[in-house]
Amino acid sequence: MTSILTAVRPASARAQALLDAPQDARMLIGGDWVGASDGATLPSIDPATGAVIGHIPDATPHDIDRAVRAARAAFDSWSQTPPAERAAILWRIADLIDANIDELAEMETLDQGKPLYVGRWAEIPGAAGQFRFFAGQATAIEGRTITPSITYQPAGKQVHAWTLREPVGVVAAIVPWNSPLVLTAMKLAPALAAGCTLVLKPAEDTSLTALRLAELMVEAGLPAGVLNVVTGRGARSGAALAAHHGVDKVAFTGSTATGRAILDASKGNLKRVTLELGGKSPVIVLPDADLDLAIPGAANAIFFNGGQVCVAGSRAFVHASIYDRVIEGLSSYADGLQLGHGLNPATQMGPLVSARQAERVADFVAGARTAGASVMTGGERSGDAGTFIRPTVIADVSPDMDVVREEIFGPVLVVQRYDDLDQVVAAANDSVYGLAASVWTESLSSAHRLSRRIQAGTVWINCHLMYDASLPIGGVKQSGYGRDSGVAALDNYLEWKTVCAVL
Ligand code: ADP
Repeated sequence: MTSILTAVRPASARAQALLDAPQDARMLIGGDWVGASDGATLPSIDPATGAVIGHIPDATPHDIDRAVRAARAAFDSWSQTPPAERAAILWRIADLIDANIDELAEMETLDQGKPLYVGRWAEIPGAAGQFRFFAGQATAIEGRTITPSITYQPAGKQVHAWTLREPVGVVAAIVPWNSPLVLTAMKLAPALAAGCTLVLKPAEDTSLTALRLAELMVEAGLPAGVLNVVTGRGARSGAALAAHHGVDKVAFTGSTATGRAILDASKGNLKRVTLELGGKSPVIVLPDADLDLAIPGAANAIFFNGGQVCVAGSRAFVHASIYDRVIEGLSSYADGLQLGHGLNPATQMGPLVSARQAERVADFVAGARTAGASVMTGGERSGDAGTFIRPTVIADVSPDMDVVREEIFGPVLVVQRYDDLDQVVAAANDSVYGLAASVWTESLSSAHRLSRRIQAGTVWINCHLMYDASLPIGGVKQSGYGRDSGVAALDNYLEWKTVCAVL
């Protein structure tokens, strides 16, 4: 399908206002809504049309310093707030997200480009789910009692020892632009449950829903300074935040290159750092797979959200016996996807987030062509305005091609053929990344065996992109370390303290 659908007028007043005229946004520091100290702003752009829909402050290092100080000032009180009170606030935040779900989904679509259904049915409910899950966890944080075997304890005395779990302190949450609100919630909810205070820096391309969420969090009763939101360029505000000595921990989701820069910046005061980075996730289709499920499943694994998903299934491995059928199925699925403005309910795939990202993706496809790969479908920019790229399926690749090795973060699938399980395991693991994988098979035995042999933080079986607040997500190898979601995520925001007493 070559036509690009245009926007349908949104239902919420805020989204309508953004569509009608650029809206000025302010950031939240110590309970005050402020601009950047030097007055600098950045435009927010609707990637489907190129229209400016708003302006956000471009925070200065001075603003970052104020935000960190505000988070520090709020820490003692918030960390000592009874867990049940913290839980009640988190639950109210979830309720307010639900109450404003249409507005948040529409704003996300305008700012990021994603089809409305992605926000409305997956990501915004997912954000509420994070706050509810971690509301439950706030009252369940506990240490252990330990019986040590110390040989030199004083005669007649006993050693009593136990551990406490204590919040790590001021957290800098730095999040990317692909799924802005839910990825923000994945950082904020466990950090707040643990008793940490935060400075959040959303991505410069997609800050609007984070600022709206902050309003809702204030409305839910979050005390001033517990959450501060600073907007602006990564190289200016992000870098200042990652290096600030008043920050105890950085929780980052984004590219592997930026993850490395953050790690470097953390050295000054040895911040704790967790990194949820890039991926090149394999999708392995076995000869016994139910292809009526596996073909649309594999297509959705890469084309959902235009492939702008860290766990996107960007490398398909298909058994030789079904290769031709699967590649034909994937290509016709791609051809059938309707591109358009995310605010049109018939849109199945939106634009990429920015012109920069669209160029990057197009360059990868051009490079694959030059290297001798076959572009079965897609690959080209589409439409007169906006940053649309047709969903792309590439075959005849070799393992050393950039399109096979690098994270593209766009709707580009490379398909490789294999003959046996040992071969596909080796090929799937031949990547610096290890974020996620999916295995498509009717064989319980193959599913279990492969789930152990694939190097990844998550292995899905007969599905891909199944997220829940209860399920840890994160990577091995250069996909990072630490986990978001699930009980495991609390560990990012808690220290162990040992108390040892002779009594
Ligand atoms: P991309 O390169 O695709 O924009 P990034 O991983 O660079 O993705 O962006 C993720 C987040 O990291 C964004 O909020 C961005 O502003 C921020 N960021 C970018 N560069 C830096 C940096 N040097 N230090 C801290 N944060 C950064």
